[in-house]
Amino acid sequence: ITNLSKQYRMGGELVKALDDVSLTVYPGDFLAIVGPSGSGKSTLMNVVGCLDSPTSGDYWLDGEEVSRLKENKLADIRNKKIGFIFQGFNLLNKLSAIENVELPLIYRGIPAKARRELAAAALVKVGLDGRMDHRPSELSGGQQQRVAIARALAGNPPILLADEPTGALDTKTGKEVMGFIRELNGLGHTIVLITHDPGISLQAKRVVRIQDGRLSEEEKGGALPDELHAGV
Ligand code: ATP
Ligand code: MG
Repeated sequence: ITNLSKQYRMGGELVKALDDVSLTVYPGDFLAIVGPSGSGKSTLMNVVGCLDSPTSGDYWLDGEEVSRLKENKLADIRNKKIGFIFQGFNLLNKLSAIENVELPLIYRGIPAKARRELAAAALVKVGLDGRMDHRPSELSGGQQQRVAIARALAGNPPILLADEPTGALDTKTGKEVMGFIRELNGLGHTIVLITHDPGISLQAKRVVRIQDGRLSEEEKGGALPDELHAGV
Protein backbone atom coordinates (compact mmCIF):
# COMPACT_ATOMS: atom_id res chain seq x y z
CA ILE A 1 0.00 0.00 0.00
CA THR A 2 1.50 3.34 -1.03
CA ASN A 3 0.32 6.85 -0.12
CA LEU A 4 -3.22 5.67 0.38
CA SER A 5 -5.97 8.01 1.52
CA LYS A 6 -9.67 7.52 2.11
CA GLN A 7 -12.16 10.30 2.56
CA TYR A 8 -15.82 9.95 3.36
CA ARG A 9 -18.25 12.65 2.31
CA MET A 10 -20.76 13.39 5.08
CA GLY A 11 -23.23 15.94 3.74
CA GLY A 12 -21.00 18.89 2.81
CA GLU A 13 -18.12 17.77 5.01
CA LEU A 14 -15.14 15.57 4.19
CA VAL A 15 -13.97 13.07 6.81
CA LYS A 16 -10.34 12.06 6.28
CA ALA A 17 -10.36 8.49 7.60
CA LEU A 18 -6.99 7.44 6.11
CA ASP A 19 -4.27 9.98 5.45
CA ASP A 20 -1.30 9.05 3.26
CA VAL A 21 -0.87 5.51 4.59
CA SER A 22 1.96 3.31 3.30
CA LEU A 23 2.27 -0.28 4.46
CA THR A 24 3.76 -3.58 3.33
CA VAL A 25 2.47 -6.96 4.46
CA TYR A 26 4.52 -10.01 3.52
CA PRO A 27 3.35 -13.56 2.80
CA GLY A 28 3.25 -15.41 6.12
CA ASP A 29 3.26 -12.14 8.07
CA PHE A 30 1.26 -11.55 11.24
CA LEU A 31 0.71 -7.80 11.52
CA ALA A 32 -1.34 -6.05 14.20
CA ILE A 33 -2.71 -2.57 13.60
CA VAL A 34 -3.50 -0.92 16.89
CA GLY A 35 -5.26 2.39 17.48
CA PRO A 36 -8.11 4.10 19.35
CA SER A 37 -11.76 4.28 18.30
CA GLY A 38 -12.27 6.34 15.16
CA SER A 39 -8.58 6.20 14.14
CA GLY A 40 -9.32 4.50 10.79
CA LYS A 41 -8.71 0.81 11.58
CA SER A 42 -11.89 -0.57 10.03
CA THR A 43 -11.54 1.75 7.06
CA LEU A 44 -8.05 0.36 6.45
CA MET A 45 -9.28 -3.19 6.92
CA ASN A 46 -12.07 -2.62 4.40
CA VAL A 47 -9.60 -1.38 1.79
CA VAL A 48 -7.10 -4.18 2.52
CA GLY A 49 -9.97 -6.69 2.32
CA CYS A 50 -11.20 -5.36 -1.04
CA LEU A 51 -14.53 -4.39 0.53
CA ASP A 52 -13.96 -0.73 -0.31
CA SER A 53 -11.70 1.35 -2.56
CA PRO A 54 -9.41 4.19 -1.47
CA THR A 55 -9.92 7.78 -2.60
CA SER A 56 -6.29 7.92 -3.75
CA GLY A 57 -3.10 5.89 -3.56
CA ASP A 58 -2.06 2.44 -4.72
CA TYR A 59 -2.79 -1.02 -3.40
CA TRP A 60 -0.92 -3.92 -4.92
CA LEU A 61 -2.26 -7.29 -3.79
CA ASP A 62 -0.29 -10.32 -4.94
CA GLY A 63 1.14 -8.47 -7.94
CA GLU A 64 -2.13 -6.88 -9.02
CA GLU A 65 -3.12 -3.20 -8.64
CA VAL A 66 -6.59 -3.43 -7.09
CA SER A 67 -7.30 0.09 -5.82
CA ARG A 68 -9.33 1.14 -8.86
CA LEU A 69 -11.07 -2.13 -9.73
CA LYS A 70 -14.86 -2.33 -10.08
CA GLU A 71 -16.86 -4.14 -7.40
CA ASN A 72 -17.38 -7.38 -9.38
CA LYS A 73 -13.60 -7.79 -9.92
CA LEU A 74 -12.94 -6.85 -6.29
CA ALA A 75 -15.49 -9.43 -5.14
CA ASP A 76 -13.70 -12.13 -7.15
CA ILE A 77 -10.37 -11.33 -5.55
CA ARG A 78 -11.94 -11.10 -2.10
CA ASN A 79 -13.67 -14.47 -2.42
CA LYS A 80 -10.49 -16.22 -3.55
CA LYS A 81 -7.87 -14.61 -1.36
CA ILE A 82 -9.33 -13.25 1.83
CA GLY A 83 -11.11 -14.61 4.88
CA PHE A 84 -12.75 -12.22 7.36
CA ILE A 85 -13.20 -12.50 11.12
CA PHE A 86 -15.30 -9.77 12.78
CA GLN A 87 -15.89 -8.65 16.35
CA GLY A 88 -19.61 -9.43 16.22
CA PHE A 89 -19.03 -12.81 14.48
CA ASN A 90 -21.58 -11.86 11.75
CA LEU A 91 -23.19 -15.30 11.70
CA LEU A 92 -26.71 -15.83 10.36
CA ASN A 93 -28.89 -17.22 13.11
CA LYS A 94 -31.39 -18.92 10.82
CA LEU A 95 -28.58 -21.12 9.50
CA SER A 96 -26.77 -23.93 11.33
CA ALA A 97 -23.03 -23.71 12.08
CA ILE A 98 -22.13 -25.77 9.02
CA GLU A 99 -24.47 -23.78 6.75
CA ASN A 100 -22.83 -20.55 7.94
CA VAL A 101 -19.41 -21.96 7.10
CA GLU A 102 -20.67 -23.00 3.65
CA LEU A 103 -21.90 -19.50 2.71
CA PRO A 104 -18.67 -18.05 1.25
CA LEU A 105 -18.12 -21.31 -0.63
CA ILE A 106 -21.45 -20.77 -2.39
CA TYR A 107 -20.14 -17.37 -3.57
CA ARG A 108 -17.06 -19.13 -4.85
CA GLY A 109 -19.22 -21.48 -6.93
CA ILE A 110 -18.10 -24.68 -5.21
CA PRO A 111 -20.58 -27.57 -5.76
CA ALA A 112 -22.77 -28.70 -2.86
CA LYS A 113 -20.99 -31.93 -1.96
CA ALA A 114 -17.49 -30.45 -1.96
CA ARG A 115 -18.84 -27.46 -0.06
CA ARG A 116 -20.20 -29.62 2.73
CA GLU A 117 -16.91 -31.51 3.00
CA LEU A 118 -14.80 -28.33 3.13
CA ALA A 119 -17.13 -26.78 5.71
CA ALA A 120 -17.09 -29.91 7.89
CA ALA A 121 -13.28 -30.07 7.70
CA ALA A 122 -13.02 -26.41 8.75
CA LEU A 123 -15.32 -27.01 11.73
CA VAL A 124 -13.26 -30.04 12.77
CA LYS A 125 -10.15 -27.83 12.57
CA VAL A 126 -11.63 -25.38 15.10
CA GLY A 127 -12.76 -28.21 17.39
CA LEU A 128 -16.47 -27.95 16.69
CA ASP A 129 -17.16 -31.36 15.15
CA GLY A 130 -19.86 -31.93 17.76
CA ARG A 131 -21.66 -28.66 17.03
CA MET A 132 -22.18 -28.59 13.26
CA ASP A 133 -25.97 -28.54 13.32
CA HIS A 134 -26.30 -26.03 16.14
CA ARG A 135 -27.58 -22.56 15.40
CA PRO A 136 -25.36 -19.64 16.53
CA SER A 137 -27.81 -18.87 19.37
CA GLU A 138 -27.24 -22.41 20.67
CA LEU A 139 -23.47 -21.84 20.96
CA SER A 140 -21.29 -19.96 23.45
CA GLY A 141 -19.57 -16.72 22.36
CA GLY A 142 -16.23 -18.46 21.93
CA GLN A 143 -17.85 -21.24 19.91
CA GLN A 144 -19.59 -18.67 17.70
CA GLN A 145 -16.27 -16.98 17.03
CA ARG A 146 -14.79 -20.38 16.18
CA VAL A 147 -17.61 -20.94 13.67
CA ALA A 148 -16.74 -17.54 12.19
CA ILE A 149 -13.07 -18.55 12.01
CA ALA A 150 -14.07 -21.83 10.31
CA ARG A 151 -16.09 -19.78 7.81
CA ALA A 152 -13.07 -17.55 7.15
CA LEU A 153 -10.89 -20.66 6.68
CA ALA A 154 -13.15 -22.94 4.70
CA GLY A 155 -11.99 -21.85 1.26
CA ASN A 156 -8.35 -21.91 2.48
CA PRO A 157 -7.68 -18.23 1.67
CA PRO A 158 -4.02 -17.17 1.98
CA ILE A 159 -4.97 -13.99 3.87
CA LEU A 160 -7.04 -13.65 7.05
CA LEU A 161 -8.24 -10.25 8.24
CA ALA A 162 -9.48 -10.04 11.80
CA ASP A 163 -11.18 -6.84 13.04
CA GLU A 164 -11.34 -6.92 16.87
CA PRO A 165 -11.84 -10.71 16.88
CA THR A 166 -11.78 -10.88 20.69
CA GLY A 167 -13.76 -7.69 21.32
CA ALA A 168 -16.97 -9.50 22.26
CA LEU A 169 -15.31 -12.27 24.28
CA ASP A 170 -14.20 -12.62 27.90
CA THR A 171 -10.44 -12.65 28.57
CA LYS A 172 -10.07 -16.43 28.71
CA THR A 173 -12.08 -17.11 25.56
CA GLY A 174 -10.31 -14.22 23.84
CA LYS A 175 -6.96 -15.87 24.65
CA GLU A 176 -8.17 -19.14 23.11
CA VAL A 177 -9.27 -17.38 19.94
CA MET A 178 -5.92 -15.55 19.73
CA GLY A 179 -4.12 -18.88 20.24
CA PHE A 180 -6.07 -20.13 17.30
CA ILE A 181 -5.19 -17.19 15.10
CA ARG A 182 -1.51 -17.71 15.94
CA GLU A 183 -1.80 -21.37 14.96
CA LEU A 184 -3.27 -20.34 11.62
CA ASN A 185 -0.31 -18.04 11.07
CA GLY A 186 1.96 -21.01 11.90
CA LEU A 187 0.19 -22.94 9.14
CA GLY A 188 1.13 -20.25 6.64
CA HIS A 189 -1.86 -17.91 6.57
CA THR A 190 -0.97 -14.22 6.38
CA ILE A 191 -2.77 -12.43 9.20
CA VAL A 192 -3.72 -8.79 9.62
CA LEU A 193 -5.25 -8.19 13.04
CA ILE A 194 -6.96 -4.99 14.02
CA THR A 195 -7.38 -4.12 17.68
CA HIS A 196 -7.63 -1.20 20.10
CA ASP A 197 -5.98 -3.40 22.77
CA PRO A 198 -2.16 -3.10 22.93
CA GLY A 199 -2.02 -6.36 24.96
CA ILE A 200 -3.69 -8.30 22.16
CA SER A 201 -1.45 -6.68 19.54
CA LEU A 202 1.63 -8.15 21.25
CA GLN A 203 0.56 -11.59 20.01
CA ALA A 204 1.46 -10.51 16.47
CA LYS A 205 4.91 -10.58 14.90
CA ARG A 206 4.77 -6.89 13.99
CA VAL A 207 2.75 -3.98 15.34
CA VAL A 208 1.97 -0.63 13.73
CA ARG A 209 -0.06 2.12 15.36
CA ILE A 210 -2.74 4.18 13.67
CA GLN A 211 -3.90 7.57 14.93
CA ASP A 212 -6.19 10.02 13.12
CA GLY A 213 -5.81 8.03 9.91
CA ARG A 214 -2.01 8.07 9.94
CA LEU A 215 0.28 5.08 10.51
CA SER A 216 3.29 5.48 12.75
CA GLU A 217 6.58 3.61 12.77
CA GLU A 218 6.62 0.00 13.75
CA GLU A 219 6.68 -0.66 17.48
CA LYS A 220 7.66 -4.31 17.36
CA GLY A 221 9.46 -6.49 14.86
CA GLY A 222 11.64 -5.50 11.91
CA ALA A 223 10.85 -4.54 8.35
CA LEU A 224 10.84 -8.22 7.40
CA PRO A 225 9.84 -11.16 9.62
CA ASP A 226 12.88 -13.34 10.49
CA GLU A 227 11.69 -16.49 8.81
CA LEU A 228 11.27 -14.60 5.55
CA HIS A 229 14.87 -13.32 5.41
CA ALA A 230 16.11 -16.71 4.26
CA GLY A 231 13.72 -16.84 1.35
CA VAL A 232 14.23 -13.31 -0.01
P1 ATP B 1 -13.48 1.67 16.15
O1 ATP B 1 -12.32 1.22 17.00
O2 ATP B 1 -14.45 2.48 16.94
O3 ATP B 1 -14.11 0.56 15.36
P2 ATP B 1 -12.04 2.55 13.76
O4 ATP B 1 -10.60 2.83 14.07
O5 ATP B 1 -12.37 1.24 13.15
O6 ATP B 1 -12.89 2.77 15.10
P3 ATP B 1 -13.23 3.73 11.38
O7 ATP B 1 -14.51 2.99 11.41
O8 ATP B 1 -12.23 3.33 10.37
O9 ATP B 1 -12.55 3.75 12.84
O10 ATP B 1 -13.56 5.28 11.19
C1 ATP B 1 -12.56 6.26 10.93
C2 ATP B 1 -13.21 7.63 10.78
O11 ATP B 1 -14.01 7.65 9.58
C3 ATP B 1 -14.16 8.00 11.91
O12 ATP B 1 -14.01 9.36 12.15
C4 ATP B 1 -15.53 7.68 11.36
O13 ATP B 1 -16.48 8.52 11.92
C5 ATP B 1 -15.36 7.92 9.88
N1 ATP B 1 -16.19 7.00 9.07
C6 ATP B 1 -16.13 5.65 9.05
N2 ATP B 1 -16.99 5.13 8.15
C7 ATP B 1 -17.64 6.17 7.60
C8 ATP B 1 -18.66 6.30 6.60
N3 ATP B 1 -19.17 5.24 5.99
N4 ATP B 1 -19.08 7.55 6.29
C9 ATP B 1 -18.55 8.63 6.89
N5 ATP B 1 -17.58 8.59 7.83
C10 ATP B 1 -17.12 7.38 8.18
MG1 MG C 1 -13.63 -0.37 13.71
